[in-house]
Amino acid sequence: MKLHKTLYLKLLLTYLAFGILSLLLVSSLFRRIVLKDLTKSQADSLYREAQLVASDYALKTRQGKEALNNARSQLKAIDTYINAEIRVIDSSGHQILDSREGSSEKTDFPDFDPTSSGTYYMTDDFFGAYDETMLSVFYPITSNFRVVGYVIFHLPMSQIYASLERIMNTCYLVMASVLLLSLILLVFFTYIVYRPLRKITHAAEEYARGNMTYEPGVNRRDEIGYLSDTLHYMASEIARTGDDQRKFIANVSHDFRSPLTSIQGYLTAMIDGTIPQELYEKYLRIVLNETDRLTKLTNGLLELNALDPGGMVLSFSDFDINAVIKQTCETFKVQCDKKKISIELILSGTSLYVHADKGKIQQAIYNLLDNAIKFSHNNSMIRIETTEKNDKVFISVKDSGIGIPKDAQSRIYDRFYKTDLSRGKDKKGTGLGLSITREIILAHNQNINVISTEGVGSEFIFTVARSKDMEE
Ligand code: ADP
Repeated sequence: MKLHKTLYLKLLLTYLAFGILSLLLVSSLFRRIVLKDLTKSQADSLYREAQLVASDYALKTRQGKEALNNARSQLKAIDTYINAEIRVIDSSGHQILDSREGSSEKTDFPDFDPTSSGTYYMTDDFFGAYDETMLSVFYPITSNFRVVGYVIFHLPMSQIYASLERIMNTCYLVMASVLLLSLILLVFFTYIVYRPLRKITHAAEEYARGNMTYEPGVNRRDEIGYLSDTLHYMASEIARTGDDQRKFIANVSHDFRSPLTSIQGYLTAMIDGTIPQELYEKYLRIVLNETDRLTKLTNGLLELNALDPGGMVLSFSDFDINAVIKQTCETFKVQCDKKKISIELILSGTSLYVHADKGKIQQAIYNLLDNAIKFSHNNSMIRIETTEKNDKVFISVKDSGIGIPKDAQSRIYDRFYKTDLSRGKDKKGTGLGLSITREIILAHNQNINVISTEGVGSEFIFTVARSKDMEE
């Protein structure tokens, strides 16, 4: 549970950090850029005005006193129009005209040096003439190619700040809307990621507690759904393996106990004289049979252990598979006779050479034939067929026995697995035969498949590599 909280908290903190950082960025950097831009554009437009006034003033000085008197009222008119104080000073800094006469006591600006700043405007109190910061834009008045004075426009910076605040307010509003909209992401995250993740973790906790049948309940078709399904599948597989192992131990114990009990019974009866000496041979044969069963079971277990991944060592040779099949059939003669089962061989050619581990392939055929006989009805037929196709030989063992139910077909190769159908028929089976067979075939890099219909029969087909240099 803690995990989710941290994850959610992390996302929330990231969201908050994102909000605060963007707010800081907008209120500092963005604000400074806008202010600079506003000041510059205001200065530009005042500069154009100043240029007009300066050239007009230069003209008026040439026209004489009367014209100059007119200039003041003209400046006043412009001042009213653009709401900026206009001052004219001579080249030594002495004030000649002011559109707002008397607004400041200061009329001398000896320190005014327009060339020092390298630009055409300044933002300060203009040499102490004002109490507040002003934007002062200047333009030289020239006469006979000489600078005789300057026209200076003064605009309070508070006006520019007012525009700046208006822009900033709009900007904050947009930002707040964006942040609010991005809250949708948070909601989206909660529903799409956080909640299913919480369900999955809960399921993992249930599995850890041993409740393997727990359903995570995440029904989605994306990566999270896939994760949940995989986890659920894993749990059910673990449960199944555990189940199989329990079943196996029960089977093995049972299979070991019954021959041991009968061996013990016969031997006791011999020792205490219940069985007369002349019948010893008969009963010792039964005892021998029972020990055979035990040996078979033990061998199966040992073999499977040796076949573990990486554990199988194959010794390849070229041999006649037809001969191996015939030989294997021979070993089952007694069982076949007992059940009146006939084996039909449809072999390709008289001899058919393959390249494989002879002993292991013989065992695979043995296991398949053993099953075919075990699960065949009396008086039926088993068909073994070999077919050549390209560089492979297909070997099929087909019976018309009880068949394998569809849902069990994917599990018959699992260790210790026995279908419910076969359980009653074959009490001795260990459920190891097919898994040994499959491991052998896979170790040869070949394939094994089954085609089976419940109540009709089964056909197991596997491949072996054809011998390259010993063709018939
Ligand atoms: P077992 O020793 O029990 O035969 P196998 O691994 O050889 O173990 O087979 C596993 C199970 O597959 C068998 O118990 C049986 O249920 C089923 N099976 C295998 N071969 C056949 C077959 N030819 N016909 C019907 N069922 C079969």
